[in-house]
Amino acid sequence: MGKPLSYRQVLANQAATDALGAALAAALPEDFQGWSILLQGDLGAGKSTLARAMLHSLGHTGRVPSPTYTLVEPYSLPRGEIYHIDLYRISGGDELEFLGWSDLHAGLKLIEWPERVPSLSDEADLAVQLEYDDAGRIVTLDALSPRGQALLARMPNSASNPVTS
Ligand code: ADP
Ligand code: MG
Repeated sequence: MGKPLSYRQVLANQAATDALGAALAAALPEDFQGWSILLQGDLGAGKSTLARAMLHSLGHTGRVPSPTYTLVEPYSLPRGEIYHIDLYRISGGDELEFLGWSDLHAGLKLIEWPERVPSLSDEADLAVQLEYDDAGRIVTLDALSPRGQALLARMPNSASNPVTS
């Protein structure tokens, strides 16, 4: 069997979501320029929590406000630019240019509510789907590109939790 393209993990509490964010940050290549990670799940599923944990692991020390109203929150970190994006209020790809989307290519994009612009999955590397599960969450990670698949293979536990769909 080849490397897993997808894996699932129970996240029993917020600390587990934070740990997943740290593991994703550690599995990113040193140069994460141009990467795109989709964060999917219902309101309160933990998309912003995961983005916050990744940003802190990648060296951000301050607050991580939700981009619900600003739509894009940029972070300049030692390893590069990261854009935390929330597309909840967007209703299609033609609205992306109002966000200055074409100027965001240089950085890593962490995108909440990517379903608003379905074509985004064509250029994304990883989809992170968070679902409610009792008091906790279940996460499913799906590689959307070869480098996303390589990232999944670097994740702890990825070999023991493959999903063969
Ligand atoms: P979203 O951005 O998806 O709307 P948030 O990250 O803003 O969600 O909120 C998620 C909420 O769920 C927070 O209150 C957080 O403490 C909590 N949470 C995060 N991960 C878990 C988990 N694995 N189990 C239980 N609660 C969690
Ligand atoms: Mg959010």
